[in-house]
Amino acid sequence: MRLASYSISGERRLGIKAADGIQDVTDSTGARDVGELLAAGAAAAGGGRLVEAASVRLLAPIARPGKIICVGLNYHDHCREQSIDPPPYPMLFSKFANAVADPYGTVTRPIATEMLDLECELAIVIGRRASRIGREQAREVIFGYTVLNDITMRDLQREDRQRLRAKGSDGFAPMGPVVVTVDEIEDPQSLRLRSSVNGETWQDSTTADMIFDVATVVAFASRTITLEPGDVIATGTPGGVGHYQHPPRYLAGGDRLRCEIDGIGALDSVVVDEEPRVADHAAAAGLG
Ligand code: MG
Repeated sequence: MRLASYSISGERRLGIKAADGIQDVTDSTGARDVGELLAAGAAAAGGGRLVEAASVRLLAPIARPGKIICVGLNYHDHCREQSIDPPPYPMLFSKFANAVADPYGTVTRPIATEMLDLECELAIVIGRRASRIGREQAREVIFGYTVLNDITMRDLQREDRQRLRAKGSDGFAPMGPVVVTVDEIEDPQSLRLRSSVNGETWQDSTTADMIFDVATVVAFASRTITLEPGDVIATGTPGGVGHYQHPPRYLAGGDRLRCEIDGIGALDSVVVDEEPRVADHAAAAGLG
């Protein structure tokens, strides 16, 4: 099942994406997105009215995840491009719900950065509460998968020596376009994932290159953090990001980003530069 949250007549609704459109399930479940569906313990089933896909705008499939847990340094090729050894255990950090953005929208480049970068990632959607589970139980608590772009300000990441500001800005986690349930992903460790900027490929790898597979990541996170339905875990990005290209490359206003995972879909975002505000002008002039 491919679940999509969508906007029609200004209303947020949930549906099952099919070849001939989107079958609405909000009337039958009361849920407007996958997060609400899972929080309610409801199950989506067909039979609702069919909405023409072209007539709606797709939204992030989970508008307000309780948690967005991210894994740093989880691909061998991403470690190689930085000339560092793979970490001995998953390096977890977090984003907040303010970072969630729709799959076809804009990414604002804050004035604070000159080094905006993208990171195409496979994201896990948790379906059941999980605490201290083992790898073998992980599949049972995973509801599905989606694509997440872990937008990052490399200069702030370097200055802060941690990731909250660098990766936590508003809209820094475009997500979607759908959540594909686990039964439709035969092997989450054999998915091709790619990113491009203005049509030029930056990342082209496979989840087979992960250092810690999805089952290990879920089990590891659950050792210290109770996972709840609707939580999202972004599993790290492969090599090819702008910061480690030669010479390094960064995103600027007008750039068109695509992050794509086979079997799930693609995120298409356009970068817009943040407009300077009066206070910023004053600060730049040494006045404020
Ligand atoms: Mg990342």
